[in-house]
Amino acid sequence: MRSAKTLLASAALCSVLAVPAHAELDVAKLKQTIETSFESEYPKLDALYKDIHAHPEIAFQEVKTSAKLAAQMRAIGFEVTEKVGKTGLVAIYKNGDGPTIMVRTELDALPMEEKTGLPYASHDKAIWHGRETFVAHSCGHDIHMASWVGTAKTLVGLKDHWQGTLMFIAQPAEEEVAGAKAMIEDGLFTRFPKPDVGFALHDGAFPYGYIAYRVGVGSSNADGLYIKFKGRGGHGAMPQATIDPVMMASRFVVDVQSIISREKDPTEFGVVSIGALHAGTAGNIIPDEAILLGTIRTFKPEVRAKMHDGIERTARAVAAMANAPAPDVRITEGTKAVVNDPAVVGTAEKVLKAAFGDKFRVTPPGTPSEDYSEYINAGVPSMFFNIGVYDPERVAAARNSGPPLPGNHSPQFAPVPQPTIQTGVTAMTLAVLSAFDQRAKGQ
Ligand SMILES: [Zn+2]
Ligand SMILES: [Zn+2]
Repeated sequence: MRSAKTLLASAALCSVLAVPAHAELDVAKLKQTIETSFESEYPKLDALYKDIHAHPEIAFQEVKTSAKLAAQMRAIGFEVTEKVGKTGLVAIYKNGDGPTIMVRTELDALPMEEKTGLPYASHDKAIWHGRETFVAHSCGHDIHMASWVGTAKTLVGLKDHWQGTLMFIAQPAEEEVAGAKAMIEDGLFTRFPKPDVGFALHDGAFPYGYIAYRVGVGSSNADGLYIKFKGRGGHGAMPQATIDPVMMASRFVVDVQSIISREKDPTEFGVVSIGALHAGTAGNIIPDEAILLGTIRTFKPEVRAKMHDGIERTARAVAAMANAPAPDVRITEGTKAVVNDPAVVGTAEKVLKAAFGDKFRVTPPGTPSEDYSEYINAGVPSMFFNIGVYDPERVAAARNSGPPLPGNHSPQFAPVPQPTIQTGVTAMTLAVLSAFDQRAKGQ
């Protein structure tokens, strides 16, 4: 077989020369090699996946999960550093001169009960914020971990075809959008090489074998909102002697939506949701204060700024209408949008398109958030893409008013392991090879 470097070089060259048939043929051969190696590795990956799935761990408690991955990566030949950013891992594999390519997985599960009924379902519990809770991998981070180990194994098996350094990182606490920051603050890019390119994937409720990607914005900016309306408490039968904070909070919850509908450009994404409203103790007492908690989601910085301004103005105006003191408004900066690098995506796109054809598709950005953006904002040009998890027939049935598909964070979320992990390993291996190849050509 020709080297991956040559195959990919010719793939890129051929697409420049507009001979895509040759490009597809070469990448197809490479894909086949990856899939053959995957097949022989799969029993081990399946066991790892089911073990991690059955024994999930919550944010910053991923001690056993982390140890399992460390053992796997050492067995493959990586040099592993543990406890980076509390429970994170950095696994390095050096293979001559060349760029450093990062691949990230998350380690954490969610504080919720799994209700899939699968033979390897989680029944584990943990203490979370002082209370006992069930724990489940209902976001599919276990799929990412199995794909991550499988990709590492495959790339080491193909080491004659690339030169440089693999930097595989396993990040804690993605669900808390805190783990990426914790790893960076613990010296991820100073104690270890700063990667030239980074990749990450996330699974989702669409057919397995399919890959969704975007150039540019891929996920939302998420900011937290806290507002305290300050009133003057008193008897519910004598409102004239009070300033009613419940009234202010209620007015705010409704009026704040006019920022979305009247102030923001309707073609731009922006959401504000109030998820918690705390005030009072009894029906006949007007309380002193009302506290609101919310979340603000946007894609673009200018929309984000406009929404922050509108939220503060609305809160102050509502208080002024009630002749109340100014409210406390705190907007806490959360995670930023993941913005894919056009050059990294452009390079991987050629190879992944040749490998997956029309199963590799551009999709609109998703509204959830993802702290992979921390690495991008620290200067790692990246591509973040999604892989599907369900039987295509089940997806088609759901589209034709069949049973709805449980999405990420649903207690019923249940990826089909083998084809999902296979797509993860194949796509990630090809993406990493495309980046090595591109850098080797000095482009
Ligand atoms: Zn999640
Ligand atoms: Zn997730």
